[in-house]
Amino acid sequence: MLPSSSDVVIVGAGNAAFCAAHAAAEHGVSVLVLERAPEEESGGNSRFTAGAFRCVYDGVDDLRALMPDLTDEEVANTDFGTYTKDKFFDDMGRVTEYRTDPDLCELLITRSKDTMRWMQKKGIRFIPIYGRQAYKIDGKFKFWGGLTVEAWGGGPGLVEAHTKIAKKNGVTVAYNARALSLLADDDGVHGVRVKHDGRTVEVRAKCVVLAAGGFQANTEMRTRYLGPTWELAKIRGTRFNTGDAIRMALDIGAMPTGNWSGCHAVGWDRNAPEFGDLAVGDNFQKHSYPWGIMINANGERFVDEGADFRNYTYAKYGRAVLAQPGGYAWQVFDAQVLPLLRDEYKMRGATKVRADSLEELVDKMQDVNPAGFLKTIRAYNAAVKRDVKFDPNIKDGKATVGLALDKSNWANTMETPPFEAYSVGCGITFTFGGVKIDPSAHVLDIEDQPIPGLFAAGELVGGLFYFNYPGSAGLMAGAVFGRIAGRGAGEFALAR
Ligand SMILES: Cc1cc2nc3c(=O)[nH]c(=O)nc-3n(C[C@H](O)[C@H](O)[C@H](O)COP(=O)(O)OP(=O)(O)OC[C@H]3O[C@@H](n4cnc5c(N)ncnc54)[C@H](O)[C@@H]3O)c2cc1C
Repeated sequence: MLPSSSDVVIVGAGNAAFCAAHAAAEHGVSVLVLERAPEEESGGNSRFTAGAFRCVYDGVDDLRALMPDLTDEEVANTDFGTYTKDKFFDDMGRVTEYRTDPDLCELLITRSKDTMRWMQKKGIRFIPIYGRQAYKIDGKFKFWGGLTVEAWGGGPGLVEAHTKIAKKNGVTVAYNARALSLLADDDGVHGVRVKHDGRTVEVRAKCVVLAAGGFQANTEMRTRYLGPTWELAKIRGTRFNTGDAIRMALDIGAMPTGNWSGCHAVGWDRNAPEFGDLAVGDNFQKHSYPWGIMINANGERFVDEGADFRNYTYAKYGRAVLAQPGGYAWQVFDAQVLPLLRDEYKMRGATKVRADSLEELVDKMQDVNPAGFLKTIRAYNAAVKRDVKFDPNIKDGKATVGLALDKSNWANTMETPPFEAYSVGCGITFTFGGVKIDPSAHVLDIEDQPIPGLFAAGELVGGLFYFNYPGSAGLMAGAVFGRIAGRGAGEFALAR
C-alpha cells in the first residue's frame, strides 16, 4: 500500500533521487520514493552505469580518504595525479563551449569532493577505475582524463547500496509507482498524483523532489526537441525516462532551460536492442575509437578520433555517427592496438568482422564502399607521423599531417594484420534540456521565482551540459544536486 501522505515525496529511484532521500531523511522527516519501474528494473540509468564519478581530488591523500581499501602497493604502482577544481572548471567550460550555467557548474565542482565523502560515510564504497582509465606502462599505472573513482559493483552495486541505506534510514520505496502530475495551487506544490499498481491515487506531501530523468526514452519528445532521425537512436539505459517529471513541472509553470536540442549520445553496437539491457549494462558501447579510425558507408573518416581523451569526445560522437549515411559507422583497428581494446569489445554478439587484409575486411563489412575505404586508409597511413611514439596514457601528439581531417593523437598506422572492425550506431544516454533550478535546487517558475515545495535534481535539470559532456559528470551532478535538493526539501518540510 502506498501511504496517502509523506513529508517529502521523491519522484524517481536513481542516484539523484536516493541522494535526495538520504539528505532529506537526515532531517527526521518522512520520505517516500516513488519508482515507476518494477523492482527488478528499478534504479534508472544509474543502474546501467559503470558507477564512475568525476570528482575533485588534490592528491592521493584525498583518494585514500575516499577509498580506505587502497593498498600501499597500489599507491606505489600508480600515478593518480590530481583532478583539481581548476581542471574540472576547464573541462566543463571547454566541452560545453562556455555555455554551462556558472552557478550550477560551480556547485557541481566545489561540492564534488565533499559529496563523495558524504556518500562514502553513508555506506557507498568506492574503488579506483583500473583498466578503463589507466594503462600499465613500464610497470606503472597512470590515470588520465580526470576520472579515477567508481562505485563498487558499478551501477548495480551503487543502486543496491543506495536502496539499502535508504531503507535503513526509514525511507519508504514504492515500485510500480508512476508519478502522473503534481498537486499544486497558488501556494505551491502539495503532493503527487500517482498510478500505483494500476490504480490512480493522490499522495499529499509538504514538498516534492523531482529526480525522474530526462526524455531520451520518449520517441516523440526526442524527435520534437533533438530533431529528425533521433527517433532512430537506440536508448542506452532505462526505458522509463520518458520526460514525465519535466512535463509535470512545465505543466505547473516551471521554467524550461538548457540545451533542449542537445544530448549525450555515443557509438553503440549497431544491433543493440531498442532499450538498455541490464544483463549487458554499458557493454554495447565502443569507446576505444581513439586507438583506431572510424569510417562511414562511403569509406570516409568523419571525426578526429584522437581530438582528446575519449572522456571528452565520446558523448558528442554518437550524434556524429547518427549524421552519417544510414546512421552507422565502423571502428577499425589493426593488431598494434587490439590488446588495448576495452572489455566491451570482447562481448559475445558484438557486431564485428576480422580479417588478415584490409581488402578482405571491407568485403566482410558488406555495407562500406571498398574503394573509398582503401583510399582513406592509404592516405591516412601516408600522413601518420611515424617518428612519434604512441602512448595511450597521454595526449601523445602522434598525429597525421596534411589530411582534410587530421587525427591529432594516437595515430598509429593501419597496416599490421589481423584487422578488426566493429559497427556502431547512435546510442542516446540522456537529454540536456530540462527544468531550471536555483542553487538550492528549488525549481524556478517562468518568472524566475522558486515554486514553493518543488525541488529537482539529476538528468532532468537543464543548464549544466551543452553539446558535450566530460565523462562521468552525470552521477556526480545527480549526487551533488540530489543532496542539495534533499536537504532543502527536509528543511522546507519542517518549516511548512
Ligand atoms: C549505459 C550507461 C552508462 C553510463 N555510465 C555512466 C558513468 O559511468 N558515470 C556517470 O556519471 N554517468 C553515466 N551514465 C549517465 C548516468 O546514468 C546519468 O547521468 C545518471 O544516472 C542520472 O541519474 P538520475 O538519478 O538523474 O536518473 P536515473 O538514474 O535515470 O533515475 C531516474 C529514475 O526516475 C524513474 N522515473 C521515470 N519516470 C518516472 C515517473 N513518472 N514516476 C516515478 N519514477 C519515474 C526511473 O524509473 C528511474 O528510477 C551512464 C548512462 C548509461 C545509460
